Order: sequence, then C-alpha cells, then structure tokens
Amino acid sequence: MTDELLGRHKAVLPDWLALYYADPLEITHGEGRHVWDAAGEKYLDFFGGILTTMTAHALPEVTKAVSEQAGRIVHSSTLYLNRPMVELAERVAQMSGIPDARVFFTTSGTEANDTALMLATTYRRSNQILAMRNSYHGRSFSAVGITGNKGWSPTSLSPLQTLYVHGGVRTRGPYADLDDADFITACVADLEDLLGHGRPPAALIAEPIQGVGGFTSPPDGLYAAFREVLQRHGVLWIADEVQTGWGRTGDNFWGWQAHGQNGPPDILTFAKGIGNGMSIGGVVARSEVMNCLDSNSISTFGGTQITMAAGLANLNYLVEHDLQGNARRVGGLLIERLRAITAQIPAVKEVRGRGLMIGIELVKPGTDEANPEAASAVLEAARREGLLIGKGGGHNTSALRIAPPLSLTVAEAEEGADALERALRSIQ
Ligand code: PLP
Repeated sequence: MTDELLGRHKAVLPDWLALYYADPLEITHGEGRHVWDAAGEKYLDFFGGILTTMTAHALPEVTKAVSEQAGRIVHSSTLYLNRPMVELAERVAQMSGIPDARVFFTTSGTEANDTALMLATTYRRSNQILAMRNSYHGRSFSAVGITGNKGWSPTSLSPLQTLYVHGGVRTRGPYADLDDADFITACVADLEDLLGHGRPPAALIAEPIQGVGGFTSPPDGLYAAFREVLQRHGVLWIADEVQTGWGRTGDNFWGWQAHGQNGPPDILTFAKGIGNGMSIGGVVARSEVMNCLDSNSISTFGGTQITMAAGLANLNYLVEHDLQGNARRVGGLLIERLRAITAQIPAVKEVRGRGLMIGIELVKPGTDEANPEAASAVLEAARREGLLIGKGGGHNTSALRIAPPLSLTVAEAEEGADALERALRSIQ
C-alpha cells in the first residue's frame, strides 16, 4: 500500500520535497504521544509532527473546538470582525512580553518571518539584515535569502542584503573551544565589527535555539549582550520563536527569555505548535513597529476562525495543565537519562538542549567530524524500535532532534530513551 502511494507521490510531487526513511511512513492517525502507520504499527512520537503537535495528538479539547467552529463557520475573512482572532491575539500579545503589542496572524512560520522582515526594513528604511550562521527561517524568497544554513542559502538570489553573525552554533566554527564568557565576547566583537561600516542594518533575526540547525543552543545571555550593541546602533532584534515558543524549552515560555536581561525582542515570530497542527503563524511587535506599514492589508487565510479556535483551545490546555512545567521536569529527566545512556557510545559527541527540545550530535568515533550517515541509520533503527525522532536539516544532518508533545509522561520518556539506546547501539 505504501509502495503504491510512494510511486504516486514521486510522480506528482517535487523531487526536493524531503521524506524521512528509505521506506517512507504513511501516518494515518494519532492519540496522545503516539501515532499509527497505514500497516497498523504504533510509534512513540518523539518529534511531535515537526514540533507542531505541541500538546498531544487528537487532543479532545482541540477536536471539539475545531468541530464546533466548523459547524458554525470555517472562514469569513478578516475583512469582518472575528471574535476568535481577537481573543487569540489578546492572549498572544499578553504572553509575548512585548509592551503595547500588536499581533498579525499568518498561516506559516515562513510568512511570519517575511512579515517581520517587511516591518523591520520599512521601519528602519534599510534592506540589510543580520542573521545567524547555520540559521533557518523558512522557504519564501526572502526567508531563504536570510537563512544561514548552507543547505538552503545558495539556492536564492535574495532581495535583501544579509550579513551573517557568529554565535548560533556552539560546537563548530572558530570559537568552538572558548568557554561561555569568551564565546560571548568573541561573538559580540564580531557583531560590532559588522556594524562598524556604513548605514546600520534594519534588524538581527535569530532563533534563540537553532531548530533545523540541530537544536544548537548559544550560552544564556548571548542575545542580551547582542541586544545592548544592537540598541546602541539602532538595529531591531527579531526573535524567531517558531520552534522555541510556547514553553517547549521548559524553563521559559519563550526562548528569548534565557537572554532577556535587556528586555523583550522588538519583533517576535511564531508558528508550529500554537495550533497543535493547524496552520497558524504570526508576528508580534510593539504598535509603533507594526503600524509602520500604512497599506490596508490582510492575509486571506491568516486569522481564519477554524485555526483560531484550535489555537485558543490548545493554548488554554497548555496553560491549565502547566505543560511548560512538564517540559521542564520530564525534559530535564530525559536529558539526564540520555546523557547517561550515551556516555559510553563513541558516536555521540554531546546531548544538549532545554526542556523538550533535545539535540544529540553524532560524530565519526574518535573525531569531531560530523556523521550524517550515522544519524540516518539511527533514525531507521529507532523506527524499527517503534520510536519516531527527527534530525537536523540542510548542512547539519548529523544531529538527532527530539521534540515530543509537551504532555510527555515520565514513563514515555523512559520508554523512548530505552528505544533510542537500542537504536544507537545497533548502529555501532
Ligand atoms: N523559522 C524556524 C525557526 C523554523 O524552524 C521554521 C520551519 O521549520 C520556519 C521558520 C518556517 O516555518 P514554516 O515551515 O511554517 O513556514
């Protein structure tokens, strides 16, 4: 059945549409932290869709809200007043930490970042953007153009002029051997150097923890140090929270808060988990920045009632059940367990992360050389163990990515860690 579907898939969809596994999976349904394939095999989902299933698969509260909303109206456009959109915007504005915040809803993270770039370049009257090396910001013309992960950037002739800053990757590059304080000092000096010439860029865009780049996390405070420099030069800070938002990192609701000593970002973008799989993206900015655009504009599907209903029900569940706290507790145990398990496995360079956003870097044993083949082999072996995980994208496919729904239980964390241990040992 899968072979037949795969043949049809290949005949009609682009060759570059990424597919996991030599024998790709067809997922037919899910419940809680589990999904099932077309052959009836059950898997523990340690990738949460692709960080989209934030609370749980088929969460009854979200299903009910969506079906009730579908029974009333799916979409009437934002040309008319839209109660679920206003309610979700109020929640997101209040949660963002940005003063006098305005929210604009899109349908994806890419479109959210595109909008953020449009705001920043218009507000600052500059088409120059600072972005981080190894970053990923989406697949539109301008989002690919600022993406630092070399797996994407050469494919684009961007309308923006992008300068790449050191600091996103802690384990590779010229500053890899420095301790945290020296690493921050070196990255800040690099930023100051970039800013020393000509007109200042419009903004620095950065993922607080790089997602596609392999869940690589800079030392806490890096962006606070950057912020001080940026403010001095009149450059905006855009935090791309598409992967790091909504409590995933456990200690904080947003990734930027680990760097928040100098206040919140000027612009925050989000997507992925808020709709529990429904396509919601968005931008938050203080009103002065958001309202620098004077065109009378809508996004046809941004803010549509059906997705807003899902977002509200999902966010309510997340807060009422303290899933951020769960991510901190269960994620903390899982990171500890994975470190213990992998200490004797030479292909594992490090287990890193925060909350339920955990990266495992694989190297050729005895070296620091990236090992993407091992990551692919572990993905396949984990699947045979009934566990779905992810890996980094573009030029960093040697990192495994673990990002289960935030309702993961301790028993499921242990079950997944055991399965991953068997998978890692099987490829040695
Ligand atoms: N920004 C980050 C940090 C992402 O990880 C992604 C997608 O993986 C995007 C933006 C693009 O989001 P989307 O795929 O919803 O367009």
